[in-house]
Amino acid sequence: MSRYIFVTGGVVSSVGKGITVASIGTILKSHQITVSAQKLDPYLNVDPGTMSPYQHGEVFVTQDGAETDLDLGNYERFIDIDLGAESSVTSGQIYSSVIAKERRGDFLGGTIQVVPHVTTEIKERFMRLAEKSKAEVVIIEVGGTVGDIEGQPFLEAARQMRNDVGRDNVLYVHVTLLPHLNSTQEVKTKPTQHSVNELRRIGIQPDIIICRSDYPISEDIRNKISLFCDVERRAVIPMPTVSTIYEVPLVLEEEGLGQLIIDKLKLKPLSSDLKQWQKMVNLIKTPREPVNIALVGKYVELKDAYFSVREALQHAALHHERDVELNWVPSETLENNGDNSVLRSAQGIVVPGGFGVRGIEGMVKAATYARENKIPYLGLCLGMHVMVIEFARHALGSNEPNSTEFDATTTYPVIDLLPEQRGKEAKGGTMRLGNYPCKLANGSHAAIAYGQSLVYERHRHRYEFNNKYRKQLEAAGMVCSGLSPDGKLVEVCELADHPWMVASQFHPEFTSRPARPNPLFRDFIGAAKDILREGAQPPLPLSSERHK
Ligand code: GLN
Repeated sequence: MSRYIFVTGGVVSSVGKGITVASIGTILKSHQITVSAQKLDPYLNVDPGTMSPYQHGEVFVTQDGAETDLDLGNYERFIDIDLGAESSVTSGQIYSSVIAKERRGDFLGGTIQVVPHVTTEIKERFMRLAEKSKAEVVIIEVGGTVGDIEGQPFLEAARQMRNDVGRDNVLYVHVTLLPHLNSTQEVKTKPTQHSVNELRRIGIQPDIIICRSDYPISEDIRNKISLFCDVERRAVIPMPTVSTIYEVPLVLEEEGLGQLIIDKLKLKPLSSDLKQWQKMVNLIKTPREPVNIALVGKYVELKDAYFSVREALQHAALHHERDVELNWVPSETLENNGDNSVLRSAQGIVVPGGFGVRGIEGMVKAATYARENKIPYLGLCLGMHVMVIEFARHALGSNEPNSTEFDATTTYPVIDLLPEQRGKEAKGGTMRLGNYPCKLANGSHAAIAYGQSLVYERHRHRYEFNNKYRKQLEAAGMVCSGLSPDGKLVEVCELADHPWMVASQFHPEFTSRPARPNPLFRDFIGAAKDILREGAQPPLPLSSERHK
């Protein structure tokens, strides 16, 4: 039977709960304990797919096509597992399912209430994941902060689990912030005490408290939290702010978190091995020569909107023992004045995913710049649409080619709705989502990158390359190097007469892992690292001959 670890957050949001869950996963996995993870999101949307990136940050897509919270991306990257739809639960899903049951008559005669109907539905989601994953430990992150109205049913369900599956099979971990007061130079514990009191009011006594702080946490402070919050001294675990999120599992393991969880849940671990992880973190922390990459997007003010893209670039750079210097370019700025000086120092250009017409012409300009100056280009979903539009305008000698997403009446709809998308009015969950197979053309950049001819990658889009223009664009030098196995859908495009201009209809960023970068990202950085740009220092001619 699976054990359950519930991770709650207190004091403030964004305290690092998601990274804590991911890190617990890394640690337990290093002890050869099988784990799975789940995120509970208290909002009423059924999934984050309909939310603006400004509201929510990135929508992470699982292989089975669920649109989920970006924390799932961290779980996948840290634990190195593929999660599915069961790992993402929202209040919207819970309520719509309970109400659908009520309409069907499943509770005939009963009054439907938060307790027990909603909480039972929530607990079923916990157990469904346990059953499906067969993991020894299921780690569950309760989104939001303790005390939020929306989160109450989730906490109540978490509380009930201890009775349902037995005390020794459930563990509560609370992640809090210890603020620092400049005037007195003190780290304060009172907000943590309050938030633990709030948890206790609901009936949850935390077993472990993880204390996030930008400042060192003294023994006194740890003793105080242990005393006031009634947790073992060794269960008060500091989580200092570190330079890379990948260091967190090491910091927590150093404080004995793995052994503590193993003891409390009576798990049977095998010997732990975080050596590879440690090696990777050492490499991340070693100064490396940067590769300058311009990320030309629409939501660049909010870095979380491109979370997986940024991570995938880092993984790829790490592979080449380089660092990434990311220049976030709001695409609209390229549109307005035609000034592309921000691109002049870029050794590579990424155009990531996105929706809607705003900023598109700026992205097209970035693609023109990459094509004309032979700068490596990586297009991700919308970035492929942009590359096709740009190339079509060049090849057909017209400014007209466009996607019908941005210009419904264009005379050259080089990107158009998928046939199955026509007539679909509803927005939620209606895109082409999740894994689809893609056959790669021998000898293409894509095939060389992947080293195999059939790959599966994750999708999230409505619009598609219009086959009506395939022949014409191919004759002009575009290579459709990735196709659906029936040959009907273009999945990867590249340019023949260019060192590395490749774009995919899928989102390769979702499958990148720190020690296993996605092949397209890896080869993109591989091509970019050798490009010499404005402002770069060419190697100095050190030969003494020159000075004679
Ligand atoms: N807006 C485009 C579409 O719907 C691209 C989507 C994306 O980049 N994820 O097809």
